[in-house]
Amino acid sequence: MSHNILVIGELDEGSASATTLELLAGASEIASGGNVSVTLLGVGASQAVGACAGANTAYASDDAQYDDFRGDQWISAIQSAVESETPDVILVAQSIVGRELGPRLSHKLGTAVAMDCVSISDVDGSIKATRPCFGGNAMATYGFSTSPAIATVRAKSFEVTEGGSGPTTSTELPAASQSRTEIIATEAATAEGLQIQDATVVVCGGRGLGDAEAFGEMESIASAIGLDKAAVGASRAAVDLGWYPPSQQVGLTGKVVTPDLYLAVAVSGASQHMAGCSGSKTIVGINRDEEANIWSFSRYGIIGDYKQVVPALIEELKKASGN
Ligand SMILES: Cc1cc2nc3c(=O)[nH]c(=O)nc-3n(C[C@H](O)[C@H](O)[C@H](O)COP(=O)(O)OP(=O)(O)OC[C@H]3O[C@@H](n4cnc5c(N)ncnc54)[C@H](O)[C@@H]3O)c2cc1C
Repeated sequence: MSHNILVIGELDEGSASATTLELLAGASEIASGGNVSVTLLGVGASQAVGACAGANTAYASDDAQYDDFRGDQWISAIQSAVESETPDVILVAQSIVGRELGPRLSHKLGTAVAMDCVSISDVDGSIKATRPCFGGNAMATYGFSTSPAIATVRAKSFEVTEGGSGPTTSTELPAASQSRTEIIATEAATAEGLQIQDATVVVCGGRGLGDAEAFGEMESIASAIGLDKAAVGASRAAVDLGWYPPSQQVGLTGKVVTPDLYLAVAVSGASQHMAGCSGSKTIVGINRDEEANIWSFSRYGIIGDYKQVVPALIEELKKASGN
């Protein structure tokens, strides 16, 4: 069955964000011939829609007021796109913006939202949304009894396919309305380099490392792999001990990462930790406890003391990269 799908896009430095392009790729698959549309708000939006492969229709506003996200302003702009498109599915990224936008939009449209989904599919004509539950220990699949079905979707849940043409029509959305929110100040996050959510490889250290200095070894693994691909994360136990910055915490109360490779070093694999990394393509554990919970999630594992395993691993990685 065909579906009309509206993707709520986001800008990243004036271009459609990577997650917006992923959502569009997913939307064009699920739409089965239905219309796919996209909204983009903020400076550069009307230019950026050109690269939105998979969308037939675009709605954009270049108003600079949309740059600092304020839920009420975004909702009223998105509502005009919803009125024109009457979508039966709305996809939003599970981003800082999307986490607020999804529930606000569902309230405004009198429908339901499934948050933090990892897959959206059409099963016999009905939209199903799958998301982790019980701290990542199980997956739940939801159907919708109201329309439009709204879902916020994690990054890297859909793969972007090369090629595909952008929208054939673009409509200007109204300039931002008066907001009830005033932004007093904004402070840039201090995290430098590749962010863990964007890394292809995440090297995560846990409490079993024993001290903050051992995180230097996690950084050496990341450098041996390449700092354009790999970043270092930490379990909450290690963060709470002050061994690594909170911006790098993976888990239920930290960041959700979905890299191709997740290397968990001296991490026990508690459910609250796994909630942040169980969507990784391949998990590899290094742990001296052969009963550790991490083995329930790992495709490969090395049972042993990281102090012996990690130097040997760094050596091999350096050889492999020719350094
Ligand atoms: C509401 C709530 C939210 C939470 N949110 C998060 C979250 O977002 N992220 C998170 O990580 N946790 C979270 N937690 C905490 C979580 O329950 C665990 O306590 C935490 O993940 C444990 O961290 P860890 O695996 O580093 O430490 P530990 O559980 O202490 O595990 C250390 C591991 O290192 C191994 N080890 C020790 N020495 C060595 C060695 N020399 N070589 C190899 N292996 C060794 C041990 O065998 C052990 O498996 C949360 C808890 C609650 C209640």
